[in-house]
Amino acid sequence: EKAEWEKLKDEPSVTADGKHFDIAANIGTPDDLQGVIDNGAEGVGLYRTEFLYMQSDKLPTEDDQFEAYKKVLEGMKGKPVVVRTMDIGGDKHLPYLPLPEEMNPFLGYRAIRISLDRQEIFRTQLRALLRASAFGNLRIMFPMIGTLQEFRDAKKVFEEEKAKLVKDGVKVSDDIQLGMMMEVPAAAVLADQFAKEVDFFSIGTNDLIQYTMAADRGNEHVSYLYQPYNPSILRLIKHVIESAHKEGKWAGMCGEAAGDNTMLPLLLSMGLDEYSMSATSVLRVRSLMKKLSTKDLATLADRAVNESITNEDNKKLVEEYLNK
Ligand code: PEP
Ligand code: MG
Repeated sequence: EKAEWEKLKDEPSVTADGKHFDIAANIGTPDDLQGVIDNGAEGVGLYRTEFLYMQSDKLPTEDDQFEAYKKVLEGMKGKPVVVRTMDIGGDKHLPYLPLPEEMNPFLGYRAIRISLDRQEIFRTQLRALLRASAFGNLRIMFPMIGTLQEFRDAKKVFEEEKAKLVKDGVKVSDDIQLGMMMEVPAAAVLADQFAKEVDFFSIGTNDLIQYTMAADRGNEHVSYLYQPYNPSILRLIKHVIESAHKEGKWAGMCGEAAGDNTMLPLLLSMGLDEYSMSATSVLRVRSLMKKLSTKDLATLADRAVNESITNEDNKKLVEEYLNK
């Protein structure tokens, strides 16, 4: 099987009926780039920048960050790179940035909530990204957006930093797409409203499932509630994708579910545009995609969200489909 997959390394990701979808990779540091290239990913769908902060013993400077982002953008040679602004908090802490003790860190001071509050940190990151944008195809997304006001506030800070750099004569790209992670249920429910203002969505199933099922993603006692095929989750995903498309925007997924074989027929049926996963999954998913036809899959998602009741129902539904 592995040898079969290898042959697909330089091929585009297409279905049996010739529809193209992007298969991208998730990275944490510029060192991960080689794996992305070796596995023939069509872009970086999630660059988790928090590692840059976690590997350091102080806040990374604008120049440190600029170098890292530039390296990734240049390495991808014009292919899209979605950089997520820092997602600290929850279970990720920085020794040099004391955060308040919290009863429920995953429901607390995290990601964009910190960035909008500690704006000097956020502005430094955005300036580094803007400067790096001249070296490739940069897209930026904000993590843990729950309200439209948060997205607007983050976008405003971005525009302010961009205007300052342009005024100083620094070269920045003029078509940086600005998107958001879809991982807070409140935002997913209102995806139709968000779609009017963002350039794209990237669905973070790890958190979307955690928050929708009210089950800590790291707690083994409730791990049975990690249910990617639960109709409640699939309805949210479907709504997010359809809302994006209604406004002419694209929707991707960068949570674990994006690289899952059972999920793939469902996501193709819903028309998800971009699939971002660990680099080592890219060829496996490309190979499965090649065997599936979107025409054939047309009604699968409707059945999964309207007729099925449980996670198991949908697992069976897809497995029967794949084995037929
Ligand atoms: C997610 O929540 O699905 C996601 C991709 O982000 P992270 O796993 O970094 O929280
Ligand atoms: Mg997340």
